[in-house]
Amino acid sequence: MKKIRYLGLTGGIASGKSTVGRLFEKLGAFVIDADEISRSVMKKGGAAYSDIIGHFGESILDKNGEIDRKKLKEIVFNNPDEKKKLEEITHPKILQYEKQLVSEFKSKNDKDLIITQAALIIEKGTYARFDGVILIYLDEKNQLERLLKRDGIDEALAKKIIDSQMSFDEKLKYATFVIDNSGTIENTEREVRRVFELINKINYCAKHQKAYDINSTGVQK
Ligand code: ADP
Repeated sequence: MKKIRYLGLTGGIASGKSTVGRLFEKLGAFVIDADEISRSVMKKGGAAYSDIIGHFGESILDKNGEIDRKKLKEIVFNNPDEKKKLEEITHPKILQYEKQLVSEFKSKNDKDLIITQAALIIEKGTYARFDGVILIYLDEKNQLERLLKRDGIDEALAKKIIDSQMSFDEKLKYATFVIDNSGTIENTEREVRRVFELINKINYCAKHQKAYDINSTGVQK
């Protein structure tokens, strides 16, 4: 039977998680996007929908009764308690959904690499459930430029978001593989292929699991 490797893919905002995720997909990995799951559990009828309204009130709804994610983002961005509350509501639902996707996938088992791309794998200590973590490197100058270009937000807010995140150097302690996304897309494609081949060549993940034992890291769950 094939050994299925299950890796987390992470990095700061606009570091290239979606871009790199797509490249892994092209190479044949089954890629799960935690952001997409988060959106789906928050949709009307989704697993976290009513609990979010129960806590934040109906004023966060748009005219179609959907949660206005922008409004919600604004509420939690400057309020750590509300942010924590939102995470307490959504994270278990996201994890549950992801587990369901993974087990559905495993029952089909036509690919042997599963990758979940998510922003907070390291910060939240959830990396411990993976066989390893792929961390994206992007220098701050490019990160700011790409964030501004992609999201069209003002520079002060973009800097604030970047500064509020855990730094690459801190995250590096938890990384199994690093992908440099500071160059051209072609360069990143080569990086992804390099890591993909490494994952396939060596039975790295199984060996690595112990080194990333949550109890030895002190990272909060
Ligand atoms: P994340 O998912 O981590 O937030 P994205 O994959 O959306 O990041 O990338 C952020 C932005 O940078 C996107 O607009 C994307 O098209 C662009 N981008 C990603 N990688 C590169 C690259 N190597 N060169 C130029 N632009 C890139």
